[in-house]
Amino acid sequence: VIEIRELHKAYGQLEVIKGVSLTAPRGHVISLIGSSGSGKSTLLRCCNLLEHSQRGEILFEGDSVRWRGEGLARVPADRAQVTRLRTNLSMVFQQFNLWSHLTILQNVMEAPVQVLKRDPAQTETRARELLAKVGIGDKADAWPAQLSGGQQQRAAIARALCMEPKALLLDEPTSALDPELQQEVVRVIKDLAAEHRTMLLVTHDMRLAADVSDHVVFLHQGRVEEEGPPAQLFEAPRSERLRQFLSASM
Ligand code: ATP
Ligand code: MG
Repeated sequence: VIEIRELHKAYGQLEVIKGVSLTAPRGHVISLIGSSGSGKSTLLRCCNLLEHSQRGEILFEGDSVRWRGEGLARVPADRAQVTRLRTNLSMVFQQFNLWSHLTILQNVMEAPVQVLKRDPAQTETRARELLAKVGIGDKADAWPAQLSGGQQQRAAIARALCMEPKALLLDEPTSALDPELQQEVVRVIKDLAAEHRTMLLVTHDMRLAADVSDHVVFLHQGRVEEEGPPAQLFEAPRSERLRQFLSASM
C-alpha cells in the first residue's frame, strides 16, 4: 500500500531522515521502533505528507507522489493527490486529538461527512458500528472530556477507521496512557492486525510490536539500523545498537 524509497528529511540544517526505504504491503503490520529522536514520528508524518521530505520517493498504491521545487522548497505538486493519500492513510496520534466541542459520535463522523461528503445517515450507522467494535458503543453521545484516556484513544481509532482508509498510521497510540488503560488499546490494535488491516505502527511497547508485526524496522539516528521479522529482531538482534536498545526497553 505504502512504499518509501531513499527518503531524506531535514529541519533546516538538521537532517533527521537519512535515506530510509520501507514498504508496507497490503494486510501487513510494520512496526517502527527506536530511541527518542531517531525519526520515527517524522517518518510517519512524511508518509502522509504532513511533513515534506527533500529527497526520495513516496508511493501510494504504486502511484508516486509528484513534487515541485527542490530541497527545502520541495512541496507536493498535486493537491488532489495529497488529499487522496491523506484520506487513505489515516493517522492516530499519541495525544488522541479529539475535537473537544464535538461529541464522540460527531468526532467520528466529522471528516467522512464534511471532507469526503459521505451520506450522513450511512456514516452514522458506520460510526456507531465502529464505536461498538472498539468497545465504547455506549459513549457515542458523550463529550471527549467525559472519557478516560483509553476510551478517548479508542474513539480516535474509530474516527480514523471511519474514513475507510487503506492503511492506519499509528504514532505511539498507547504511550500517553496508564498501563492498565494501554491494554484496552492494545486489544483493539491486535483485533485490527488479526483482520489484516495495513498498519504502520510506531511504538515503545516491544511486546505489542512482537505480537502484531509482520516486519519490524529499527531506526537509529534517521537510518534503518536493522529490520526483519519480529522473531529475528527481538530474539536474535544482530546489531549492537539494537541489542542495547532492547535491553533498555524490555
Ligand atoms: P520519540 O520517540 O521521542 O517520539 P521520534 O523517533 O519520534 O522520537 P522525531 O519526533 O521524528 O523522533 O524527531 C527526530 C528528530 O527531529 C529529533 O532530533 C527532533 O528534535 C527533530 N525534530 C522533530 N520535529 C521537529 C521540528 N518540527 N523542527 C525541528 N526539529 C524537529
Ligand atoms: Mg515520536
